[in-house]
Amino acid sequence: MADVPDNAPQHCPGTESEQAGKTSSCEGCPNQKVCASGATKAPDPAIAEIGAKMSTVKHIILVLSGKGGVGKSTFSAHLAHALASDNTKEVALLDVDICGPSIPRIMGLEGEQVHQSGSGWSPVYVDDNLAVMSIGFLLNSPDDAVIWRGPKKNGMIKQFLRDVDWGELDYLIVDTPPGTSDEHLSIVQYLSSTHIDGAVIITTPQEVSLQDVRKEIRFCQKVKLPIIGVVENMSGFVCPSCKNTSQIFPPTSGGAEKMCADLDLPLLGKVPLDPRIARSCDEGKSFLNEVPDSPAAKVYLNIVQSIQDYCSNRVTEEQSTT
Ligand code: SF4
Repeated sequence: MADVPDNAPQHCPGTESEQAGKTSSCEGCPNQKVCASGATKAPDPAIAEIGAKMSTVKHIILVLSGKGGVGKSTFSAHLAHALASDNTKEVALLDVDICGPSIPRIMGLEGEQVHQSGSGWSPVYVDDNLAVMSIGFLLNSPDDAVIWRGPKKNGMIKQFLRDVDWGELDYLIVDTPPGTSDEHLSIVQYLSSTHIDGAVIITTPQEVSLQDVRKEIRFCQKVKLPIIGVVENMSGFVCPSCKNTSQIFPPTSGGAEKMCADLDLPLLGKVPLDPRIARSCDEGKSFLNEVPDSPAAKVYLNIVQSIQDYCSNRVTEEQSTT
């Protein structure tokens, strides 16, 4: 609790109020800067509610990318599909890309709607053990634009975490928008009373993508979000006929491999471009099932195994420290 300082003006609105640092009474107050920054405000009670809700979720994984168009949502969707292929595991995929939700289409759920029940919003199920939630389910048409400012986006993320009836989950995968924006800060803040296992960062080999990924990595370090590893997408092109691989996006500065070596981060895998991946996504199907012989599918499965190992090791480490 932040106390009102002795030297505060007489009409101080209260350091924890929404108006702290912003009213005319605050003009000239020595505390104005810190109050206006929000640092003195009371924590949002939703953080504790979300903590309670997430107590039945074993692992939370965020999927991040510096740029759009690098295959982040495709990765999130197929991570969810691969984890749910073990039908003893309960998996959910949450799309917090409020302004560009593509998960409903990739998961073959366009036109689906969420339902409200006594225990909250019910997610949409792809299979008995694979649930999905996205703002796309709340729009009238996939072409509707969501033009929202920060507070409204934050409110929706809060609802997704607190008001969805997630039930008992082994894995919650969170697909985030590209870059570091309101959505990222919100999700980290709202999940601060629970645990996030870590983030998987998606990039392509070109320096223009890696530059933004370095910013994403700095963001993770700043908010103390562990990085599970980096995935390089579009890493070569596999000809569907002859199966030969060629470089479409050459790694001019060494690609994700060099970046990971420089920054001491795990490179989870390099996924080659395969036009069958895009076709499966457009049709709302898992390419892991559609084209299991694709070199890309094999790389994906290795990456998913590494993520599962990371999550299991994390639990073992936690147990050994308690
Ligand atoms: S800046 Fe405003 S809210 Fe903060 S202590 Fe001063 S008067 Fe109170």
